[in-house]
Amino acid sequence: MDVKPFAAAFRDTNRRLFKLLDFLSALRGLASLNVHQPDENTLIEGALRSLVENQDFERCSVYLLQGKTLVNAAGMDWFDLVGDERPKSRSSLTFQLGEGMIGAAAAEGSVQHCRDTTTDQRFIQAPGAGGNRVGSLICVPMRFGDDILGVLNVSHPEPNTLDDTHVRMLVLFTDFLAQMLTNWRIVHRMEEEVSARTAAMETALEEAEEHRLRYERLAVVDELTQTHNRRFFFPEAQAAVARAVRHGHEFSLLMIDLDHFKHINDDLGHAAGDEALRQFAGMLRELTREGDILARFGGEEFVIALPNTTVEGAVGLAERLRTAMADHHWDLGNSHVKRITASIGISDLAAGDFEAGTKPRELVDLLLRNADIALYHSKDTGRDRCTVYQRESC
Ligand code: GH3
Ligand code: MG
Ligand code: MG
Repeated sequence: MDVKPFAAAFRDTNRRLFKLLDFLSALRGLASLNVHQPDENTLIEGALRSLVENQDFERCSVYLLQGKTLVNAAGMDWFDLVGDERPKSRSSLTFQLGEGMIGAAAAEGSVQHCRDTTTDQRFIQAPGAGGNRVGSLICVPMRFGDDILGVLNVSHPEPNTLDDTHVRMLVLFTDFLAQMLTNWRIVHRMEEEVSARTAAMETALEEAEEHRLRYERLAVVDELTQTHNRRFFFPEAQAAVARAVRHGHEFSLLMIDLDHFKHINDDLGHAAGDEALRQFAGMLRELTREGDILARFGGEEFVIALPNTTVEGAVGLAERLRTAMADHHWDLGNSHVKRITASIGISDLAAGDFEAGTKPRELVDLLLRNADIALYHSKDTGRDRCTVYQRESC
């Protein structure tokens, strides 16, 4: 019996089986690709690597469609697998839609199979592809739904090496790759959208926080003089008084009212009056120290609560203020004024002034009341002076 036909059939079946196994290995390589790649070209390169590693193709590449141009996104050949470092500039390799076999695959959406490039008119060498010899070639369109994403090309230097089995396998491989690329694009677009939205949300939150701080500050800071206002003063002064009582520390308070301020406004204008107030507030800020509680109480009236400060200390501060005012050059925009003076009332907290358990708020009110009495004593006795509240006489 002639066993030759059986042996030939057996060899052929065997060859096909190995091809199929190789192909399944390529697909398995594709399925186990790490899809968390920074760009799609790296992803495609990984896919091509699994193709070249498991098949007897010499070279393969993917061109992606950008408008009407197919641009080389990745390429792989045996030299790449053995670590050849030949320089590659892929993005310069392009085909127009319809140009050559690659262009035809994309334009028509159908596989182009060239068994022998030397006799096939459709084949044109990739411009700038170097001296790579191409004997046979398969170009498979990468499609997702109705969209053509690009073309997968596989070539061999010898003619008649790539057959219909290769075509069938490559169509399947390309379908998987197209699906993978589309998934990558969707995930990547989503990631970009999420990070854009996160950035926008962070900016909005920062702005909201800025507004909150601004309004919080506006609520306790006087806009004209940039000193604190009454809203700030009371809770701060009460807390400081409570501490002073608890620790038996000194506590004094200054109430300051500018003299004849109405005249400044009347003679020089309201804007000059505003400027005088700003300069005066600056002087107060200069003279006070950390821990002192300075506030604009009303029009041209300011209060300074002085924790850990004796009456003598408070008088010292009042006198320094009067001296500074006398020395100050009152340049109020277009107008000058020689002197602006202030009347000052000083009060302090003494143990005998209040019963144990008196609320801090009441103690602050007491200090303010007494300082106000002393201030009006200064006004009544000629202004431009400071008076200490006298428990017996006032
Ligand atoms: P004295 O206190 O010495 O008795 O006289 P005065 O002229 O300062 O008296 P009064 O307290 O009655 O007047 C305060 C003036 O301060 C009245 C108001 O026009 C002026 N004033 C209050 N707030 C402001 C302000 O924010 N800007 C300006 N330009 N003037 C103000
Ligand atoms: Mg006044
Ligand atoms: Mg006043």
